[in-house]
Amino acid sequence: MINQTIKEKVKAYMPEMKALSDWMYEHPELGDEEYEIYNRLVEKLKIEGFQVEEQYLGIPTCFRAEYDSGKPGRTVAYLSEYDALPDIGHGCGHNLICVSGLTAALVTKALIHEVGGKVVLLGTPAEETNGAKVDMADKGTFDNIDVAIMTHPGNQNFATVGSLAMLAIEFTFKGQTAHAAASPEKGINALDAVINTFNNLNAFREHMPSDGRIHGIITEGGVAANIVPDRAVAQFYVRANEKETVEYLKNRLINCAKGASLGAGTEMSINYYEKAYDNFKTNKKLTEVYYENAKAFGLEDISFERSRSGSLDAGNVSHVVPTIHSIFKLSSEELISHSREFASATLSDYAFESMEKTVCAMVKTGYDILASEGLLSLIK
Ligand SMILES: [Zn+2]
Ligand SMILES: [Zn+2]
Repeated sequence: MINQTIKEKVKAYMPEMKALSDWMYEHPELGDEEYEIYNRLVEKLKIEGFQVEEQYLGIPTCFRAEYDSGKPGRTVAYLSEYDALPDIGHGCGHNLICVSGLTAALVTKALIHEVGGKVVLLGTPAEETNGAKVDMADKGTFDNIDVAIMTHPGNQNFATVGSLAMLAIEFTFKGQTAHAAASPEKGINALDAVINTFNNLNAFREHMPSDGRIHGIITEGGVAANIVPDRAVAQFYVRANEKETVEYLKNRLINCAKGASLGAGTEMSINYYEKAYDNFKTNKKLTEVYYENAKAFGLEDISFERSRSGSLDAGNVSHVVPTIHSIFKLSSEELISHSREFASATLSDYAFESMEKTVCAMVKTGYDILASEGLLSLIK
């Protein structure tokens, strides 16, 4: 009975959400610059009767929207992302994440008077770079929330993701410019320090824990071939299954850079240029609830857990509150995430039909928590 009601209510929102998601595809905004979609979401939520805290935690495109049934009960939060990627737009499909969270919050609001409690929608900017969820997890956003629920498009249906812990580290080397041919002996070459950092790292790779991933680029490496570079910069991401391994790999990478800097005669400084992400922690009981709901709404081919790959700021959330981060199948073809093809697929009917079923499962899972205190204590 409730499943039929959820189905109908979710379906009714689909044309509006398709229009919004397609508009986002046409107007991609980078992390922490998602002003247009932020304004649209805040306006919509206010019209729907949500109490909206704008520029939440001092982040310009972050919000917390709450709808209170006025009856005592539990609190369920849905999460929306809306940042795009440079050059390829919504190649990670965050336009679909945005509208799935929004629809789930609106439909839960429509059902909440029966069961009591509150529904929250969190607008979480900059997942691809400086994840606002990290601040949210650190600053107590989830202290009054019982479960957090979101989804992400991908190649297959999964009830939960595995994700890697990650940190972002940047090395800047300072040397001395000189004429590269007339007085090379007066120069100190900062680019050498960068190149040797990569060489030291590549030698270390043979001995790295097998789940480790270190990948980097050179962001500055000199300005002209006849000037000895006095400044060179390299950025790396370090990832592994657990935070402790990331810490170990980071220290080894720093030693690679220190050795390279000493050899080149440069000075080195370190900058953590983005926030560190935790691995994703699966709550088994909550995921079972979602998994059964997903099957009931027609996602029969859903698998329980995706093997670990990539990193998510939802990882940090999962360490402070039971969290669902499901994956739904975007296309009948296998697509590469962070590609233009992936972005185009977010426009398809296939993607929307798959998302519609997923949103039903998100709503039903939230509804189950709101309706049963016993279930929540099992989850916790
Ligand atoms: Zn991405
Ligand atoms: Zn993503």
